[in-house]
Amino acid sequence: MTAFEEHATRLLADLEAMDLLRAPREVAGSQGPILTVDGKRVVVLCSNNYLGLAGDPRLERALAAGLAEHGAGAGASRHVSGTSTAHRQAEQRLAAFVRLPRALLFATGYGANVGAIPALVGAEDAIFSDALNHASIVDGCRLSRADIHIFRHRDPEHLGALLASLRTKYRTALVVTESLFSMDGDCAPLRDFDSLCRRYDTGLYVDEAHALGVLGPDGAGLCTRDGVTPDVLVGTLGKALGLAGAFVAGRDSVVRLVENRARSYVFSTALPPAIASAAVTAADIVAGADGARARLSLLAARLREQLAGLGFRVGAGHGPILPVHIGPSAETMQVSRTLFELGVFIHGIRPPTVPAGTGRLRVTPMATHSDADLDAALEAFRRVAGLYQSIIRDHV
Ligand SMILES: *Cc1c(COP(=O)(O)O)cnc(C)c1O
Repeated sequence: MTAFEEHATRLLADLEAMDLLRAPREVAGSQGPILTVDGKRVVVLCSNNYLGLAGDPRLERALAAGLAEHGAGAGASRHVSGTSTAHRQAEQRLAAFVRLPRALLFATGYGANVGAIPALVGAEDAIFSDALNHASIVDGCRLSRADIHIFRHRDPEHLGALLASLRTKYRTALVVTESLFSMDGDCAPLRDFDSLCRRYDTGLYVDEAHALGVLGPDGAGLCTRDGVTPDVLVGTLGKALGLAGAFVAGRDSVVRLVENRARSYVFSTALPPAIASAAVTAADIVAGADGARARLSLLAARLREQLAGLGFRVGAGHGPILPVHIGPSAETMQVSRTLFELGVFIHGIRPPTVPAGTGRLRVTPMATHSDADLDAALEAFRRVAGLYQSIIRDHV
């Protein structure tokens, strides 16, 4: 073993000792409500493919047509080898979808946040960030070199107090939040945040990764639902829209600044144009998917009620993300493994995805689950509740 291999092996052993070692299960075929995972047929309740579009034949055809027209790859960053008509069309469609003037595509949502935040604020500025924001936001804030002030999760009073005492020290400032929180399933009070931002001349940056396609009129997200026009809106194409990639939307000057300065955009190969062209189809499908959204909401409500009835600690919220709180990482993974043996696939969520001691099962139904799929899953949960009574109730 080389010295460096020994180093890696030691760190892996540390992760394993803390029950934090990650190893994905292997999926055969395309994503869907039922999958063959590690050779076993299971009900999938851990995907962000909320509307089932990742395996939708309409989207597969759009992607195939996009490939035939635009080829496999973008060739380089768009500043280097030019932008495809497919990129431009997708940006227009996505901007219209979220009711903002302009949008700019990124290859991933992670790249959108680590690129856009440092493009917009720097060392003379401040960021006010929700305590439970996604890792890509946290990393974007750090890369910006702005002073970072964390406000309590979804707490406008705390945010208001911080803005009142700190805002005038800085050139500009940005409030950064998710709209539907990815691991907690609750929603930011966007209207309150928006009025605070106006009062304190501060930008509002909203990551709609999980709300887009799922919540709001035509699935346009929570900013649209709440009548809030953020300075920056981040949407992802890899979740409800079933593809991959992301976009940053806002007014022209803001998006142009991101286009010029976001290092993950400027120094990274563009999203394949075939995916961009399929994104137009995805937006069209999603905008017309009220039936699927109603189905998703019904299944989520049913799961929420029945899991609580079985004694599980289900987090607050109404959307399609149901955190079932367990606590310690080892126990979270044990419950997840038992559920898998009983035919239900839900990965345990552990630090650093969530704070230490708040391990959970993140339960997410899909609009394409049948009633029988849900019944089978609930039967597995019923058995797990019997096996692990103390674990599911007695978390810290
Ligand atoms: C998933 C997620 C991202 C990252 O998007 P990808 O396209 O998967 O890289 C960004 N922000 C939030 C809130 C997310 O949940």
